[in-house]
Amino acid sequence: MTISTSYDVVNPATEQVLTTVAMADTAETDLAVARAGRAFETWRQVSPADRGRLLRRFSEQVDGHLEELAQLEVGNAGHTIGNARWEAGNVRDVLNYFSAAPERLFGRQIPVAGGVDLTFHEPLGVVGVIVPWNFPMPIASWAIAPALAAGNTVVLKPAEYTPLTALRLAELALDAGLPEDVLIVLPGEGTVVGQRLVEHPDVRKIVFTGSTAVGKAVMAGCAAHVKRVTLELGGKSANVVFADADLEKAAATAPYAVFDNAGQDCCARSRILVQRSVFDRFMELLEPAVKGMRVEDPALDTSQMGPLISQRQWDRVSSYVPDGAPVAFRGDAPDGPGFWFPPTVLAPVDAADRAVTEEVFGPVVAVLTFEDEADAVRLANAGNYGLAGSIWTRDLGRALRVSRGIEAGNLSVNSHSSVRYATPFGGFKQSGLGRELGPDALHAFTDVKNVFLATEG
Ligand code: NDP
Repeated sequence: MTISTSYDVVNPATEQVLTTVAMADTAETDLAVARAGRAFETWRQVSPADRGRLLRRFSEQVDGHLEELAQLEVGNAGHTIGNARWEAGNVRDVLNYFSAAPERLFGRQIPVAGGVDLTFHEPLGVVGVIVPWNFPMPIASWAIAPALAAGNTVVLKPAEYTPLTALRLAELALDAGLPEDVLIVLPGEGTVVGQRLVEHPDVRKIVFTGSTAVGKAVMAGCAAHVKRVTLELGGKSANVVFADADLEKAAATAPYAVFDNAGQDCCARSRILVQRSVFDRFMELLEPAVKGMRVEDPALDTSQMGPLISQRQWDRVSSYVPDGAPVAFRGDAPDGPGFWFPPTVLAPVDAADRAVTEEVFGPVVAVLTFEDEADAVRLANAGNYGLAGSIWTRDLGRALRVSRGIEAGNLSVNSHSSVRYATPFGGFKQSGLGRELGPDALHAFTDVKNVFLATEG
Protein backbone atom coordinates (compact mmCIF):
# COMPACT_ATOMS: atom_id res chain seq x y z
CA MET A 1 0.00 0.00 0.00
CA THR A 2 1.28 3.49 -0.84
CA ILE A 3 0.90 5.93 2.00
CA SER A 4 0.93 9.65 1.24
CA THR A 5 2.98 11.65 3.70
CA SER A 6 1.36 14.97 2.80
CA TYR A 7 -1.78 16.25 1.13
CA ASP A 8 -2.34 19.43 -0.89
CA VAL A 9 -5.55 21.01 0.38
CA VAL A 10 -7.41 22.62 -2.53
CA ASN A 11 -9.99 25.41 -2.66
CA PRO A 12 -12.81 23.80 -4.67
CA ALA A 13 -14.05 27.18 -5.96
CA THR A 14 -10.69 28.07 -7.55
CA GLU A 15 -8.71 24.77 -7.67
CA GLN A 16 -5.82 26.65 -5.98
CA VAL A 17 -3.74 24.81 -3.39
CA LEU A 18 -4.36 26.43 0.00
CA THR A 19 -1.81 24.60 2.09
CA THR A 20 -0.17 21.23 2.56
CA VAL A 21 -1.05 19.02 5.50
CA ALA A 22 1.03 16.17 6.90
CA MET A 23 -0.66 12.77 6.78
CA ALA A 24 -0.28 10.28 9.59
CA ASP A 25 0.68 6.65 9.03
CA THR A 26 -0.29 3.57 11.02
CA ALA A 27 2.53 3.95 13.55
CA GLU A 28 1.54 7.58 14.23
CA THR A 29 -2.06 6.48 14.62
CA ASP A 30 -1.00 3.92 17.23
CA LEU A 31 0.99 6.62 19.02
CA ALA A 32 -2.03 8.95 19.04
CA VAL A 33 -4.25 6.20 20.45
CA ALA A 34 -1.68 5.51 23.18
CA ARG A 35 -1.50 9.22 24.09
CA ALA A 36 -5.30 9.52 24.14
CA GLY A 37 -5.40 6.37 26.30
CA ARG A 38 -3.07 7.95 28.89
CA ALA A 39 -5.06 11.20 28.79
CA PHE A 40 -8.24 9.23 29.46
CA GLU A 41 -6.93 8.11 32.85
CA THR A 42 -6.77 11.71 34.05
CA TRP A 43 -9.64 13.21 32.02
CA ARG A 44 -12.16 10.77 33.48
CA GLN A 45 -11.09 11.89 36.97
CA VAL A 46 -11.69 15.59 36.27
CA SER A 47 -14.72 16.59 38.33
CA PRO A 48 -18.01 16.86 36.40
CA ALA A 49 -18.21 20.60 37.13
CA ASP A 50 -14.70 21.21 35.82
CA ARG A 51 -15.28 19.09 32.72
CA GLY A 52 -18.38 21.18 32.07
CA ARG A 53 -16.46 24.40 32.68
CA LEU A 54 -13.71 23.38 30.23
CA LEU A 55 -16.29 22.53 27.54
CA ARG A 56 -17.93 25.92 28.10
CA ARG A 57 -14.54 27.60 27.67
CA PHE A 58 -14.01 25.57 24.49
CA SER A 59 -17.40 26.82 23.27
CA GLU A 60 -16.36 30.41 24.10
CA GLN A 61 -13.10 29.96 22.17
CA VAL A 62 -15.09 28.83 19.16
CA ASP A 63 -17.42 31.79 19.58
CA GLY A 64 -14.42 34.14 19.63
CA HIS A 65 -13.14 32.64 16.37
CA LEU A 66 -16.42 32.17 14.49
CA GLU A 67 -15.46 34.29 11.52
CA GLU A 68 -12.01 32.70 11.20
CA LEU A 69 -13.50 29.19 11.29
CA ALA A 70 -16.20 30.17 8.79
CA GLN A 71 -13.66 31.65 6.38
CA LEU A 72 -11.53 28.51 6.65
CA GLU A 73 -14.54 26.42 5.61
CA VAL A 74 -15.41 28.72 2.72
CA GLY A 75 -11.86 28.26 1.39
CA ASN A 76 -11.48 24.57 2.14
CA ALA A 77 -14.95 23.17 1.43
CA GLY A 78 -16.54 25.80 -0.85
CA HIS A 79 -19.38 26.39 1.62
CA THR A 80 -21.23 29.66 1.26
CA ILE A 81 -20.18 32.15 3.91
CA GLY A 82 -23.73 32.19 5.29
CA ASN A 83 -23.71 28.42 5.77
CA ALA A 84 -20.17 28.40 7.15
CA ARG A 85 -21.08 30.97 9.82
CA TRP A 86 -24.06 28.81 10.81
CA GLU A 87 -21.80 25.75 10.99
CA ALA A 88 -19.23 27.45 13.25
CA GLY A 89 -22.12 28.68 15.42
CA ASN A 90 -23.46 25.13 15.55
CA VAL A 91 -20.10 23.90 16.91
CA ARG A 92 -20.25 26.56 19.61
CA ASP A 93 -23.83 25.63 20.50
CA VAL A 94 -23.17 21.88 20.54
CA LEU A 95 -20.21 22.35 22.90
CA ASN A 96 -22.29 24.62 25.09
CA TYR A 97 -25.24 22.19 25.12
CA PHE A 98 -23.08 19.23 26.17
CA SER A 99 -21.12 21.30 28.71
CA ALA A 100 -24.19 20.93 30.93
CA ALA A 101 -24.10 17.15 30.59
CA PRO A 102 -21.27 16.01 32.91
CA GLU A 103 -23.18 17.24 35.96
CA ARG A 104 -26.39 15.60 34.74
CA LEU A 105 -25.07 12.16 33.85
CA PHE A 106 -27.36 10.51 36.36
CA GLY A 107 -27.44 6.85 37.20
CA ARG A 108 -30.38 5.20 38.97
CA GLN A 109 -31.13 3.76 42.35
CA ILE A 110 -33.21 0.66 41.71
CA PRO A 111 -35.32 -0.89 44.48
CA VAL A 112 -34.11 -4.44 45.24
CA ALA A 113 -34.22 -6.72 48.26
CA GLY A 114 -31.30 -6.96 50.67
CA GLY A 115 -29.42 -3.83 49.71
CA VAL A 116 -29.05 -0.83 47.45
CA ASP A 117 -28.69 -1.07 43.70
CA LEU A 118 -26.96 1.73 41.78
CA THR A 119 -26.18 2.28 38.11
CA PHE A 120 -23.30 4.37 36.76
CA HIS A 121 -22.76 5.62 33.21
CA GLU A 122 -19.05 4.94 32.77
CA PRO A 123 -17.01 6.46 29.93
CA LEU A 124 -15.76 4.01 27.30
CA GLY A 125 -12.15 5.18 26.85
CA VAL A 126 -10.64 6.33 23.55
CA VAL A 127 -13.25 7.17 20.91
CA GLY A 128 -12.25 7.23 17.21
CA VAL A 129 -14.19 9.74 15.13
CA ILE A 130 -14.10 9.52 11.32
CA VAL A 131 -15.52 12.60 9.64
CA PRO A 132 -16.55 13.23 6.00
CA TRP A 133 -15.89 16.32 3.90
CA ASN A 134 -19.45 17.58 3.46
CA PHE A 135 -19.93 19.23 6.89
CA PRO A 136 -16.47 18.96 8.48
CA MET A 137 -17.06 21.22 11.49
CA PRO A 138 -20.53 20.35 12.79
CA ILE A 139 -20.16 16.60 12.27
CA ALA A 140 -16.87 16.62 14.19
CA SER A 141 -18.49 18.51 17.08
CA TRP A 142 -21.52 16.18 17.30
CA ALA A 143 -19.13 13.42 18.39
CA ILE A 144 -16.44 15.42 20.19
CA ALA A 145 -18.79 17.27 22.54
CA PRO A 146 -20.76 14.33 24.02
CA ALA A 147 -17.72 12.03 23.99
CA LEU A 148 -15.64 14.48 26.04
CA ALA A 149 -18.57 15.41 28.27
CA ALA A 150 -19.00 11.75 29.20
CA GLY A 151 -15.32 11.48 30.15
CA ASN A 152 -13.85 9.87 27.03
CA THR A 153 -10.89 11.10 24.99
CA VAL A 154 -11.05 11.46 21.20
CA VAL A 155 -8.83 10.77 18.20
CA LEU A 156 -10.47 12.42 15.20
CA LYS A 157 -9.65 11.73 11.55
CA PRO A 158 -10.93 14.48 9.26
CA ALA A 159 -11.60 13.79 5.58
CA GLU A 160 -8.53 14.23 3.41
CA TYR A 161 -10.20 17.04 1.45
CA THR A 162 -11.18 19.09 4.52
CA PRO A 163 -8.80 18.92 7.50
CA LEU A 164 -8.41 22.65 8.22
CA THR A 165 -11.27 23.46 10.59
CA ALA A 166 -10.72 20.27 12.61
CA LEU A 167 -7.03 21.16 13.08
CA ARG A 168 -8.03 24.66 14.20
CA LEU A 169 -10.66 23.29 16.61
CA ALA A 170 -7.97 21.14 18.27
CA GLU A 171 -5.86 24.28 18.83
CA LEU A 172 -8.86 26.14 20.26
CA ALA A 173 -9.49 23.24 22.64
CA LEU A 174 -5.96 23.59 24.01
CA ASP A 175 -6.37 27.38 24.27
CA ALA A 176 -9.55 26.73 26.28
CA GLY A 177 -7.52 24.71 28.77
CA LEU A 178 -8.44 21.16 27.79
CA PRO A 179 -5.52 18.93 28.76
CA GLU A 180 -3.11 17.73 26.04
CA ASP A 181 -4.24 14.60 24.16
CA VAL A 182 -7.86 14.75 25.31
CA LEU A 183 -8.69 15.74 21.72
CA ILE A 184 -6.23 14.68 19.01
CA VAL A 185 -6.88 15.53 15.36
CA LEU A 186 -5.00 13.23 13.02
CA PRO A 187 -5.23 13.91 9.27
CA GLY A 188 -4.62 10.87 7.11
CA GLU A 189 -6.06 8.49 4.57
CA GLY A 190 -9.26 6.64 5.33
CA THR A 191 -7.70 3.30 4.51
CA VAL A 192 -4.73 4.06 6.79
CA VAL A 193 -5.70 6.19 9.81
CA GLY A 194 -9.44 5.49 9.63
CA GLN A 195 -9.01 1.77 9.22
CA ARG A 196 -6.41 1.61 12.00
CA LEU A 197 -8.79 3.37 14.40
CA VAL A 198 -11.42 0.77 13.52
CA GLU A 199 -8.99 -2.12 14.03
CA HIS A 200 -7.08 -0.81 17.07
CA PRO A 201 -8.03 -2.86 20.15
CA ASP A 202 -7.66 0.16 22.48
CA VAL A 203 -10.18 2.30 20.57
CA ARG A 204 -13.41 1.47 22.33
CA LYS A 205 -15.88 3.18 20.02
CA ILE A 206 -16.06 4.46 16.45
CA VAL A 207 -18.30 7.28 15.28
CA PHE A 208 -18.35 7.16 11.49
CA THR A 209 -20.12 9.52 9.09
CA GLY A 210 -19.82 8.90 5.36
CA SER A 211 -20.91 6.56 2.62
CA THR A 212 -22.99 3.48 3.35
CA ALA A 213 -20.41 1.27 1.59
CA VAL A 214 -17.55 2.35 3.87
CA GLY A 215 -19.92 2.36 6.87
CA LYS A 216 -20.62 -1.34 6.35
CA ALA A 217 -16.87 -2.08 6.29
CA VAL A 218 -16.40 -0.01 9.45
CA MET A 219 -19.19 -1.93 11.19
CA ALA A 220 -17.66 -5.26 10.14
CA GLY A 221 -14.25 -4.11 11.42
CA CYS A 222 -15.75 -3.06 14.75
CA ALA A 223 -17.37 -6.48 15.12
CA ALA A 224 -13.95 -8.10 15.57
CA HIS A 225 -13.63 -6.30 18.93
CA VAL A 226 -17.35 -5.93 19.68
CA LYS A 227 -16.49 -2.25 19.44
CA ARG A 228 -19.31 0.21 19.93
CA VAL A 229 -20.22 2.04 16.74
CA THR A 230 -22.42 4.91 15.66
CA LEU A 231 -23.00 5.23 11.91
CA GLU A 232 -24.41 8.23 10.06
CA LEU A 233 -24.60 7.15 6.42
CA GLY A 234 -26.27 8.08 3.17
CA GLY A 235 -29.75 9.23 2.33
CA LYS A 236 -32.21 9.61 -0.53
CA SER A 237 -34.81 11.66 1.25
CA ALA A 238 -38.24 12.50 -0.10
CA ASN A 239 -39.93 15.89 -0.13
CA VAL A 240 -43.60 14.92 -0.29
CA VAL A 241 -45.98 17.62 -1.56
CA PHE A 242 -49.71 16.98 -1.24
CA ALA A 243 -52.30 18.85 -3.32
CA ASP A 244 -53.65 20.65 -0.23
CA ALA A 245 -50.24 22.13 0.68
CA ASP A 246 -49.14 25.74 0.50
CA LEU A 247 -47.70 25.10 -2.98
CA GLU A 248 -46.03 28.49 -3.26
CA LYS A 249 -44.05 27.91 -0.08
CA ALA A 250 -43.32 24.26 -0.89
CA ALA A 251 -41.94 25.19 -4.31
CA ALA A 252 -40.02 28.23 -3.09
CA THR A 253 -38.21 26.22 -0.41
CA ALA A 254 -37.68 22.95 -2.31
CA PRO A 255 -34.45 24.07 -4.06
CA TYR A 256 -32.75 24.89 -0.74
CA ALA A 257 -33.78 21.51 0.68
CA VAL A 258 -31.72 19.74 -1.96
CA PHE A 259 -29.23 22.22 -3.44
CA ASP A 260 -27.96 23.61 -0.14
CA ASN A 261 -24.24 22.78 0.17
CA ALA A 262 -24.42 21.94 -3.56
CA GLY A 263 -26.52 18.89 -2.68
CA GLN A 264 -23.67 17.36 -0.68
CA ASP A 265 -25.87 16.74 2.29
CA CYS A 266 -26.95 13.36 3.62
CA CYS A 267 -30.39 14.90 4.38
CA ALA A 268 -30.83 16.40 0.88
CA ARG A 269 -34.42 16.04 -0.27
CA SER A 270 -33.27 14.70 -3.62
CA ARG A 271 -36.62 13.18 -4.56
CA ILE A 272 -39.59 15.53 -4.79
CA LEU A 273 -42.84 13.53 -4.77
CA VAL A 274 -45.77 15.67 -5.92
CA GLN A 275 -49.43 14.68 -5.95
CA ARG A 276 -50.35 14.27 -9.63
CA SER A 277 -53.24 16.77 -9.59
CA VAL A 278 -50.88 19.68 -8.74
CA PHE A 279 -47.74 18.53 -10.59
CA ASP A 280 -47.98 21.11 -13.42
CA ARG A 281 -48.62 24.01 -11.05
CA PHE A 282 -45.79 22.89 -8.74
CA MET A 283 -43.31 22.71 -11.66
CA GLU A 284 -44.39 26.20 -12.81
CA LEU A 285 -43.57 27.52 -9.34
CA LEU A 286 -40.37 25.47 -8.95
CA GLU A 287 -38.73 26.69 -12.15
CA PRO A 288 -38.19 30.36 -11.16
CA ALA A 289 -37.09 29.26 -7.67
CA VAL A 290 -34.37 27.03 -9.15
CA LYS A 291 -33.30 29.49 -11.83
CA GLY A 292 -33.18 32.27 -9.24
CA MET A 293 -30.62 30.51 -7.04
CA ARG A 294 -27.36 32.42 -6.83
CA VAL A 295 -24.58 29.98 -7.62
CA GLU A 296 -21.43 32.05 -7.22
CA ASP A 297 -18.22 32.66 -5.29
CA PRO A 298 -19.11 31.19 -1.86
CA ALA A 299 -17.24 34.01 -0.12
CA LEU A 300 -19.88 36.51 -1.30
CA ASP A 301 -22.64 37.28 1.19
CA THR A 302 -25.18 36.84 -1.62
CA SER A 303 -24.00 33.33 -2.56
CA GLN A 304 -26.59 30.56 -2.12
CA MET A 305 -24.61 27.68 -3.56
CA GLY A 306 -20.93 26.99 -4.04
CA PRO A 307 -18.99 24.35 -5.99
CA LEU A 308 -18.74 20.60 -5.46
CA ILE A 309 -15.86 19.45 -3.28
CA SER A 310 -13.62 17.88 -5.97
CA GLN A 311 -13.21 16.82 -9.58
CA ARG A 312 -13.94 13.27 -8.45
CA GLN A 313 -17.28 14.36 -7.00
CA TRP A 314 -18.02 16.42 -10.13
CA ASP A 315 -17.45 13.33 -12.31
CA ARG A 316 -19.64 11.26 -10.04
CA VAL A 317 -22.50 13.77 -10.03
CA SER A 318 -22.23 14.27 -13.81
CA SER A 319 -22.75 10.56 -14.35
CA TYR A 320 -26.34 11.01 -13.09
CA VAL A 321 -27.08 13.55 -15.84
CA PRO A 322 -25.85 11.84 -19.01
CA ASP A 323 -26.64 13.13 -22.50
CA GLY A 324 -30.35 12.64 -23.08
CA ALA A 325 -31.20 12.78 -19.35
CA PRO A 326 -34.75 14.09 -18.73
CA VAL A 327 -33.69 17.60 -17.63
CA ALA A 328 -36.78 19.74 -17.01
CA PHE A 329 -34.76 22.88 -16.24
CA ARG A 330 -31.46 23.97 -14.69
CA GLY A 331 -30.01 26.93 -12.86
CA ASP A 332 -26.72 28.64 -13.66
CA ALA A 333 -23.18 27.96 -12.55
CA PRO A 334 -19.97 29.94 -13.12
CA ASP A 335 -17.55 29.00 -15.91
CA GLY A 336 -13.82 28.71 -15.41
CA PRO A 337 -11.92 27.03 -12.60
CA GLY A 338 -13.71 25.33 -9.72
CA PHE A 339 -15.91 22.26 -9.53
CA TRP A 340 -19.16 24.02 -10.43
CA PHE A 341 -22.33 22.14 -11.24
CA PRO A 342 -25.67 23.85 -11.98
CA PRO A 343 -28.79 23.03 -9.96
CA THR A 344 -30.56 20.44 -12.10
CA VAL A 345 -34.17 19.24 -12.05
CA LEU A 346 -35.03 15.90 -13.65
CA ALA A 347 -38.68 15.28 -14.69
CA PRO A 348 -40.50 13.26 -15.78
CA VAL A 349 -38.12 10.60 -14.59
CA ASP A 350 -38.41 6.83 -14.38
CA ALA A 351 -38.65 5.54 -10.80
CA ALA A 352 -35.89 3.03 -11.62
CA ASP A 353 -33.45 5.71 -12.87
CA ARG A 354 -30.14 5.78 -10.90
CA ALA A 355 -30.83 9.45 -10.15
CA VAL A 356 -33.95 8.33 -8.28
CA THR A 357 -32.57 5.27 -6.49
CA GLU A 358 -28.97 6.29 -5.59
CA GLU A 359 -27.51 9.04 -3.42
CA VAL A 360 -26.23 11.61 -5.93
CA PHE A 361 -24.60 13.93 -3.39
CA GLY A 362 -24.78 16.83 -5.81
CA PRO A 363 -27.31 19.43 -6.99
CA VAL A 364 -29.57 17.04 -8.89
CA VAL A 365 -33.20 16.45 -7.94
CA ALA A 366 -35.74 14.07 -9.43
CA VAL A 367 -39.45 15.02 -9.41
CA LEU A 368 -41.98 12.16 -9.42
CA THR A 369 -45.74 12.03 -9.05
CA PHE A 370 -47.97 10.03 -6.72
CA GLU A 371 -51.71 9.40 -6.63
CA ASP A 372 -52.75 9.28 -2.97
CA GLU A 373 -51.42 9.04 0.58
CA ALA A 374 -50.64 5.32 0.42
CA ASP A 375 -48.79 5.79 -2.86
CA ALA A 376 -46.79 8.68 -1.38
CA VAL A 377 -45.67 6.60 1.61
CA ARG A 378 -44.82 3.62 -0.62
CA LEU A 379 -42.66 5.79 -2.90
CA ALA A 380 -41.00 7.62 0.01
CA ASN A 381 -40.05 4.26 1.55
CA ALA A 382 -38.60 2.80 -1.66
CA GLY A 383 -34.93 1.88 -1.36
CA ASN A 384 -32.54 1.13 1.48
CA TYR A 385 -32.13 4.61 2.90
CA GLY A 386 -34.18 6.27 5.64
CA LEU A 387 -32.53 9.42 6.93
CA ALA A 388 -34.82 12.44 6.50
CA GLY A 389 -37.80 13.83 4.65
CA SER A 390 -40.39 16.59 4.42
CA ILE A 391 -44.16 16.47 4.23
CA TRP A 392 -46.19 19.39 2.88
CA THR A 393 -49.90 19.38 3.70
CA ARG A 394 -52.45 21.52 5.56
CA ASP A 395 -54.16 18.42 6.94
CA LEU A 396 -52.80 17.78 10.44
CA GLY A 397 -54.07 14.21 10.59
CA ARG A 398 -52.40 13.38 7.29
CA ALA A 399 -49.17 15.07 8.40
CA LEU A 400 -49.03 12.76 11.41
CA ARG A 401 -50.13 9.62 9.54
CA VAL A 402 -47.53 10.14 6.83
CA SER A 403 -44.85 11.04 9.40
CA ARG A 404 -45.53 7.73 11.14
CA GLY A 405 -45.62 5.89 7.82
CA ILE A 406 -42.30 7.08 6.41
CA GLU A 407 -39.36 5.01 7.62
CA ALA A 408 -36.86 7.79 8.32
CA GLY A 409 -35.17 9.21 11.39
CA ASN A 410 -35.75 12.93 10.78
CA LEU A 411 -38.94 14.29 9.31
CA SER A 412 -40.27 17.81 9.10
CA VAL A 413 -43.77 19.00 8.29
CA ASN A 414 -44.17 22.16 6.20
CA SER A 415 -40.46 22.88 6.58
CA HIS A 416 -37.14 21.23 5.81
CA SER A 417 -35.42 21.15 9.13
CA SER A 418 -33.26 18.13 9.99
CA VAL A 419 -30.66 19.10 12.53
CA ARG A 420 -31.08 20.77 15.88
CA TYR A 421 -28.48 20.19 18.58
CA ALA A 422 -31.20 19.56 21.19
CA THR A 423 -33.00 16.82 19.22
CA PRO A 424 -31.86 13.34 18.12
CA PHE A 425 -30.44 12.89 14.63
CA GLY A 426 -29.83 9.66 12.72
CA GLY A 427 -31.12 7.18 10.20
CA PHE A 428 -33.45 4.21 9.76
CA LYS A 429 -32.54 1.24 7.56
CA GLN A 430 -29.14 1.62 5.84
CA SER A 431 -28.89 5.31 6.66
CA GLY A 432 -27.26 4.57 9.95
CA LEU A 433 -27.14 3.11 13.40
CA GLY A 434 -27.65 5.02 16.64
CA ARG A 435 -28.45 8.68 17.19
CA GLU A 436 -26.35 11.79 17.63
CA LEU A 437 -27.29 15.03 19.41
CA GLY A 438 -30.25 15.56 21.71
CA PRO A 439 -30.74 14.61 25.34
CA ASP A 440 -29.72 10.95 24.97
CA ALA A 441 -26.51 11.35 22.98
CA LEU A 442 -24.31 10.83 26.03
CA HIS A 443 -25.50 7.27 26.38
CA ALA A 444 -23.84 6.44 23.07
CA PHE A 445 -20.52 7.27 24.78
CA THR A 446 -21.00 5.38 28.03
CA ASP A 447 -21.63 1.86 29.26
CA VAL A 448 -23.98 1.15 32.14
CA LYS A 449 -22.43 -0.36 35.26
CA ASN A 450 -24.68 -1.90 37.87
CA VAL A 451 -23.46 -2.05 41.49
CA PHE A 452 -25.30 -3.84 44.29
CA LEU A 453 -24.42 -2.97 47.89
CA ALA A 454 -25.62 -5.50 50.45
CA THR A 455 -27.08 -3.84 53.53
CA GLU A 456 -27.84 -6.95 55.50
CA GLY A 457 -25.24 -8.34 57.80
P1 NDP B 1 -16.29 7.94 2.36
O1 NDP B 1 -17.33 7.18 3.03
O2 NDP B 1 -15.23 7.19 1.60
O3 NDP B 1 -15.50 8.88 3.38
C1 NDP B 1 -15.93 9.28 4.66
C2 NDP B 1 -14.78 9.23 5.66
O4 NDP B 1 -14.35 7.87 5.84
C3 NDP B 1 -13.51 9.99 5.22
O5 NDP B 1 -12.88 10.54 6.34
C4 NDP B 1 -12.68 8.86 4.62
O6 NDP B 1 -11.31 9.15 4.55
C5 NDP B 1 -12.95 7.75 5.60
N1 NDP B 1 -12.67 6.40 5.10
C6 NDP B 1 -12.59 5.98 3.80
N2 NDP B 1 -12.31 4.66 3.73
C7 NDP B 1 -12.22 4.22 5.02
C8 NDP B 1 -11.95 2.95 5.62
N3 NDP B 1 -11.75 1.86 4.88
N4 NDP B 1 -11.93 2.85 6.96
C9 NDP B 1 -12.16 3.94 7.73
N5 NDP B 1 -12.41 5.18 7.22
C10 NDP B 1 -12.45 5.33 5.89
O7 NDP B 1 -16.98 8.98 1.38
P2 NDP B 1 -16.40 9.61 0.03
O8 NDP B 1 -15.59 10.77 0.38
O9 NDP B 1 -15.70 8.57 -0.80
O10 NDP B 1 -17.73 10.05 -0.72
C11 NDP B 1 -18.37 9.14 -1.62
C12 NDP B 1 -19.87 9.19 -1.50
O11 NDP B 1 -20.26 8.83 -0.19
C13 NDP B 1 -20.49 10.56 -1.71
O12 NDP B 1 -20.67 10.88 -3.04
C14 NDP B 1 -21.79 10.41 -0.96
O13 NDP B 1 -22.73 9.76 -1.76
C15 NDP B 1 -21.41 9.53 0.21
N6 NDP B 1 -21.11 10.35 1.42
C16 NDP B 1 -22.09 10.51 2.33
C17 NDP B 1 -21.87 11.30 3.44
C18 NDP B 1 -22.94 11.50 4.45
O14 NDP B 1 -22.90 12.46 5.20
N7 NDP B 1 -23.91 10.63 4.54
C19 NDP B 1 -20.60 12.01 3.66
C20 NDP B 1 -19.61 11.74 2.65
C21 NDP B 1 -19.89 10.95 1.58
P3 NDP B 1 -10.72 9.86 3.21
O15 NDP B 1 -11.01 11.28 3.35
O16 NDP B 1 -9.28 9.60 3.26
O17 NDP B 1 -11.38 9.21 2.04
